[in-house]
Amino acid sequence: MLYAVFIFLFGLIIGSFLNVVIYRLPRGESVVGPFSFCPLCGRRLRAYDLVPVLSYLWLKGRCRYCQGVISPLYPLVEALTGVLFLLIYIQYGVSFTSLSGMVLVSFLLPASFIDIEHGIIPDKITYTGFMAGIVLSFFTIGFKSAFLGGLVFSLFYLVIALVSRGGMGGGDVKLAALIGSFVGLEGILAVFIISSLAGGIFALMLLLTGRGNRRTEIKFGPFLAFSAYLVWMYGSDIINLYWLMWRGM
Ligand SMILES: [Zn+2]
Repeated sequence: MLYAVFIFLFGLIIGSFLNVVIYRLPRGESVVGPFSFCPLCGRRLRAYDLVPVLSYLWLKGRCRYCQGVISPLYPLVEALTGVLFLLIYIQYGVSFTSLSGMVLVSFLLPASFIDIEHGIIPDKITYTGFMAGIVLSFFTIGFKSAFLGGLVFSLFYLVIALVSRGGMGGGDVKLAALIGSFVGLEGILAVFIISSLAGGIFALMLLLTGRGNRRTEIKFGPFLAFSAYLVWMYGSDIINLYWLMWRGM
């Protein structure tokens, strides 16, 4: 129980750092710079302004100095990181698998939120994440599965990107390499199926609610990331469910 609380708090702190990555990386700023500033008024924030989730709630979502509205995405990313870390710990305990999952989440979250806001996924995230997946594979799924997973999955989306001419971006292709190196060769088919379904349903909802048309560009990165987490977390179970559904039809 004590471990669980510790892991959750650890996740909140990592989430706070991920916010820095999400804000600074697309703007070309250093993610290890010493101070945090209010993005609205530029005032330097104090340690007590930066307590994950709590500062946001205490200040009612406004900057202490300029009263500007702070995006609820900041506490959301922090809370999400804490919860996802906790779920991983509950499933896999203290292990290299858990460490691997937490590292994966720490790359997927910034990739998703930066893609939503800026429509890009920085190479620093995808390249570093792919390499982290390869290194961790020696303690988890094995080098061969991780390397082939990343290679095959990214080549697959590269072909789609070339054929669709811009329907899928280079960032997604590299994100597929990152994801493949964590879910392995065995997991990529399930990630493909789930992300395609989720993206398709989202596009259909946009069409039906009149919020988009056939030309509306949909950022695919978050769907890939969401599916990668599901498959990494529940891998074989999800694939079994898929085959059961397939046989039932
Ligand atoms: Zn401010």
